[in-house]
Amino acid sequence: MEDRSDVLIVGTGHGGTSAAIALRQNGFEGSIAMIGRETELPYERPPLSKEYLAGDKPFDRIAIRPAAFWPEKGIAIRSGVAVVGVDPQARSVRLSDDTEHGYGTLIWATGGDARRLSCPGSDLPGIHTIRNRADVDLLRAELDAGARRAVVVGGGYIGLEAAAVLRKFDRDVTLVEAQPRVLARVAGEELSAFYQAEHARQGVDLRLSASVEAIVERDGRVAGVTLSDGETIDADIVIAGIGIIPSVGPLIAAGAAGADGVDIDELCRTSIEDVYAIGDCAAHANVWADGAVLRVESVQNAHDMAMTVARAICGDPQPYRAFPWFWSNQYDLKLQTAGISAGYDATVLRGSPEDRKFSVIYLRGGKVIAFDCVNDTRSYVQGRKLIEAGSVVEPATLADPEVALKSLL
Ligand code: ADP
Repeated sequence: MEDRSDVLIVGTGHGGTSAAIALRQNGFEGSIAMIGRETELPYERPPLSKEYLAGDKPFDRIAIRPAAFWPEKGIAIRSGVAVVGVDPQARSVRLSDDTEHGYGTLIWATGGDARRLSCPGSDLPGIHTIRNRADVDLLRAELDAGARRAVVVGGGYIGLEAAAVLRKFDRDVTLVEAQPRVLARVAGEELSAFYQAEHARQGVDLRLSASVEAIVERDGRVAGVTLSDGETIDADIVIAGIGIIPSVGPLIAAGAAGADGVDIDELCRTSIEDVYAIGDCAAHANVWADGAVLRVESVQNAHDMAMTVARAICGDPQPYRAFPWFWSNQYDLKLQTAGISAGYDATVLRGSPEDRKFSVIYLRGGKVIAFDCVNDTRSYVQGRKLIEAGSVVEPATLADPEVALKSLL
């Protein structure tokens, strides 16, 4: 393995792999290497809490490219090693196997690590996270071995998707969420209320405004959780879906600016020369959030930032302003989101949740900024255009199902 690459990419997730692929598509002829902590070839992450956990998609169907693709494109992959240090002067990174790897340009695409519970007992066997294939294989093995009662901690998309899969497997599921409603970080109250009702209808026992104070142990593994109100819930397994911690330690230690993740500019450049950062770990001023500085945890963001970096490296720099979108599948519900709802000051309901086909539309200062669409792809497609156009529309008009959204453009 050569120990210097013209472009060195840290992380083999959606961001890192998209950057490597885009560089070749843009005609980049220099050497490219990717460094990945995991031992598998690059794979898609969204199915981990959905079809892969459910057993509906085997691992080979979530591979980002067939194994032969990478050598064919001249993209070297060093797997099973982590970057533990960055030396901007020497332009090299230090790896967990005590080797070094030099770079001309570094792309930091490490995403984040699943945040873990920090209460007493939180290291016990039987406590799971869902971030990597290995996490899900372990969880599936325990389900196959007969785990019946699950406590899911966290009512974000990961927790809700996991709860839906576990109910499909007919497991007992209690979902514990610290906030008064699920999806509080990412969605408005109408959407939270709908998903709460759906999960309850599917048999999930929801505990809102509740947190886990301690893990109950029996025979060296988890046997339950104790909630903040003192109640104990028996459990064979616990799944923590409580967000990620951006994996940027070595970069920050090397002097890169960043408080939550690593800061980047509109070309995805960090404050260190020739070091870019993309994806979940990259804090940026997002044009779709009125310039607010945030991290966006989505495949779309990782992929499109990779495009921005590849263009910049190939001499065609164009500021990052890709349109944000996201999806989540739970039960028979297909959620599609367009735009960024953070900072909204009003919401409009279009369609009716009882029909299980509706959208929540978010406004700021009268302007349409985001759509959350449940089984409502038409509104998603047309809503996106309204957001992109910066449309200002009366709430009553948006709510009227007789008025086609496309007529409002
Ligand atoms: P993810 O992508 O893992 O779903 P989010 O940050 O979107 O992450 O959602 C995590 C959810 O977990 C949030 O709704 C948050 O309020 C909740 N949460 C975080 N820590 C705890 C905790 N200790 N107990 C219960 N809920 C928690």
